[in-house]
Amino acid sequence: MSTLARRAADALARIGANVPDSGDLPARSPITGEVLCLVEASNTAAVDAAITAAHNAFRNWRTVPAPVRAAVVRRLGGLLAEHKDDLAELVTLEAGKITSEARGEVQEMIDVCEFAVGLSRQLYGKTMTSERPGHRLMETWHPLGVVGVISAFNFPVAVWSWNTAIALVCGDTVVWKPSEATTLTAIACTALLRRACADEGADPDVHQLVLGAAPVGEQLVEDSRVALLSATGSVRMGRTVAPRVAARFGRCLLELGGNNGAIVTPSADLDLAVRGIVFAAAGTAGQRCTTLRRVIVHESVADELVERIANAYRQLRVGNPFDEGVLVGPLISSDAYAAMAGALEKAGSDGGELICGGDRIDVEGDYSFYVTPAVVRMRAQTSVVREETFAPILYILTYNDFDSAIELHNAVPQGLSSAIFTTDVREAERFIAADGSDCGIANVNIGTSGAEIGGAFGGEKETGGGRESGSDSWKAYMRRATNTINYSNQLPLAQGVNFG
Ligand code: NAD
Repeated sequence: MSTLARRAADALARIGANVPDSGDLPARSPITGEVLCLVEASNTAAVDAAITAAHNAFRNWRTVPAPVRAAVVRRLGGLLAEHKDDLAELVTLEAGKITSEARGEVQEMIDVCEFAVGLSRQLYGKTMTSERPGHRLMETWHPLGVVGVISAFNFPVAVWSWNTAIALVCGDTVVWKPSEATTLTAIACTALLRRACADEGADPDVHQLVLGAAPVGEQLVEDSRVALLSATGSVRMGRTVAPRVAARFGRCLLELGGNNGAIVTPSADLDLAVRGIVFAAAGTAGQRCTTLRRVIVHESVADELVERIANAYRQLRVGNPFDEGVLVGPLISSDAYAAMAGALEKAGSDGGELICGGDRIDVEGDYSFYVTPAVVRMRAQTSVVREETFAPILYILTYNDFDSAIELHNAVPQGLSSAIFTTDVREAERFIAADGSDCGIANVNIGTSGAEIGGAFGGEKETGGGRESGSDSWKAYMRRATNTINYSNQLPLAQGVNFG
């Protein structure tokens, strides 16, 4: 067994999960490109059985009071904290994140569990004044049913927890299909949740794990027992999934690709802007949905900003994500590298000037893909800039009046995250106003990535419109009933209607 395979097996064993040893799904590490172990994919019958079990478990789970349901999530949060290092190790092994970011992702799970526990006592409905005497009008919120969770490779555990912690507290049950690239982290999380259920005397069938590629997800898409499909991934995936769920009148929560921009104005604090830009653009090797992909900088500060970003980029250590001091780990696959190389070539033929980076470097041999993050100065926002290439390429565009900067910023099909670096309060307020950024996330003087769990997370346009995690995102996981209660002995009709 190789060193990495041993590390994965040890982490799974400490968590108390079965260490897979056979199957047709390779669990690969992008660190070296090697197969860590083989995992069994779920066949059609297994996926059907998982949906059936979750559907049956829902019948009882929906009647358990929300604060009692929350005990499972509280316990899960405790177990995640206890196994933070083990889970982070698996995240690094499977997604290639540096240790600090992998630990951050696990911390996000712990945070959302805490949030969901508090939420369990705050699933508030409204009471409205009735137009009729002796009547009361109110809204109540009820569990929805089975939530299908399809997640992407780049946040292999956090996205699951955003959905699952909230769904469980809301009284739903969950069937999770993680990315086929990150099955071990999913097996680990599922083991911890099953332990939390056992410790709290709850039915472990409230959560089901199914493993495999797109066809496994498609079964969740097609099954009318899946009341809500929460799908995180590329726009391409969302475009396939959404109409099929809509055709059966199911609900969809879409968290799709981003093409996030930051405007840098002449008044910006450039020290702060450079730090914010470099973390958002090069962190996680450019493989976050919120990765900064476009900087739109005022002509008067463009040369200085580009030079400072390039200097910072040259100091970024690219390497094995387990190594101390490394800030940029590997790309997930050869396909990701091919997409990056193709985009750089296209940008070049569109007149872009490569300022730095874009090279493949040999860190752990031929089967892993490490690159130096690239900065490309563009004369125009051509089609390659308007696409999301899931790799560390930062395009720099310039502007000379603020309105055109906002226009350029919004002229992409995606609408996830955005930022402005400025010390001018008028520009800052305009950026987050109705005629400013059209994204779901609009930040001032911080980068586009690294959201906290307390806010609603998601984006507009091709990003899909879904909201997850904090604020009132829980409403997507429940159904609303409007109740009119007549406590009088009359039967007045609304709108003054007289019926005989
Ligand atoms: P992907 O679209 O290739 O896969 C995502 C998930 O969808 C996987 O589990 C995959 O098996 C499944 N899938 C793919 N086709 C499917 C189909 N036809 N039916 C059902 N399931 C299907 O994405 P990826 O490469 O894993 O992740 C990167 C992408 O995800 C990027 O575009 C990134 O921006 C996006 N992403 C978005 C968010 C967000 O919150 N907006 C978060 C993380 C990642």
